[in-house]
Amino acid sequence: TDLFQSPDYFNVDELLTEEQKLVRESVRNYVKKEISPIIEEYAQKAEFPEQIVKQLGEMGCFGPTIPQEYGGGGLDYISYGLMMQELERGDSGVRSTASVQGSLVMFPIYAYGSEEQKRKFLPKLASGEWLGCFGLTEPDFGSNPAGMMSSFKDAGDNVVLNGSKMWISNAPFSQVAVVWAKDENGEVRGLILERGMEGFSTPTTHGKWSLRASATGELVFDQVKVPKGNILPGVKGMRGPLSCLTKARYGIAWGSVGAAMDCYDTALRYSKERIQFDRPIGAFQLQQKKLAEMVTEITKAQLLNWRLGVLMNEGKATPQQVSMAKRNGCEIATNIARQARQMLGGMGITGEFSIMRHMMNLESVITYEGTHDIHLLITGMDVTGLNAFK
Ligand code: FAD
Repeated sequence: TDLFQSPDYFNVDELLTEEQKLVRESVRNYVKKEISPIIEEYAQKAEFPEQIVKQLGEMGCFGPTIPQEYGGGGLDYISYGLMMQELERGDSGVRSTASVQGSLVMFPIYAYGSEEQKRKFLPKLASGEWLGCFGLTEPDFGSNPAGMMSSFKDAGDNVVLNGSKMWISNAPFSQVAVVWAKDENGEVRGLILERGMEGFSTPTTHGKWSLRASATGELVFDQVKVPKGNILPGVKGMRGPLSCLTKARYGIAWGSVGAAMDCYDTALRYSKERIQFDRPIGAFQLQQKKLAEMVTEITKAQLLNWRLGVLMNEGKATPQQVSMAKRNGCEIATNIARQARQMLGGMGITGEFSIMRHMMNLESVITYEGTHDIHLLITGMDVTGLNAFK
């Protein structure tokens, strides 16, 4: 039985096309069947459910907006957003796997790759035969990635890459890594690394209390010879990685709201069933305040995301608008998860319910792809015209 009742207080459904609703239904059903029943156990064990890579490929969740001739879905941005919403309703780690593959690995190859690179990598990434990762963050350069130290030097038909990346989602299971590093002129370029290249390793990051069902690792480059044919020809400078981040952050704006919806739905149902002082706890004003505020924030975020999706489809969305929506989604989802967890009392801290897992996951979601602070500064700079970053 489908217990989940999608909160849709302002009939946002009427704004969606039949295709968009079908896409949402199919991913929602997939999550219900394949993700929800297993994800808690994987998260508890801190294991990556490797089988989801093929499944997400089959579901069309990898690169849904990439044209079909390269294996993508050829779908619009609202469909993509709804997919991310439904995946993250299941687990932020599962959505992360899809976001990285589609927006951070396939998108740069599609937008900046040569025809040969596109033909070689995109279909296998779209189908889930290969998993990819995106290496931007370094141990000493997180919010300020432009300071990166990873660099490469010319060596005939190859370049030789040295340096390291940290906090890289999917890294331990990836066949392919899109890595951003500086050339001899200090200009940032994108390189496609393949597992098996000598001197390239991907040690796993252990001990996370968040995104436990998503594999995170380092990328270590020790004199890695990368063929020049693996350099993305179409982009130079920070515009490359930043444009990928805009696509992924757009997905996070929707995804985080999916996690919030699941927390709200769980708390709402619990509040009607749990009796204390001879009444369902949902009859108490304090609990109603929590639920009313949750559904208000979810509704506002749904409308913001839908409008952003329209702007994305029209090619008019700015990175600053995406920042606002990413920040908003993460903020409301984090708050809703905390409130919902409290509404479940002691049960809220167990794996019987999804809320605590969402709550812990969202601590990563609010941090990666630009922290909460950084997105606020982006909005601040946009509205004042003054740079407060440094
Ligand atoms: P720092 O940059 O050191 O920030 C520390 C604190 O200082 C933060 O609160 C920050 O907001 C604040 N701060 C920084 N600068 C300013 C400023 N100018 N003004 C005010 N406050 C400031 N990266 C990838 O490249 N690929 C991935 O796949 C990837 N996956 C990730 C998965 C997980 C689970 C996590 C946790 C991270 C992942 N990241 C990935 C890295 C992530 O993007 C960074 O953690 C993030 O950008 C923040 O960088 P940092 O951790 O170095 O924090």
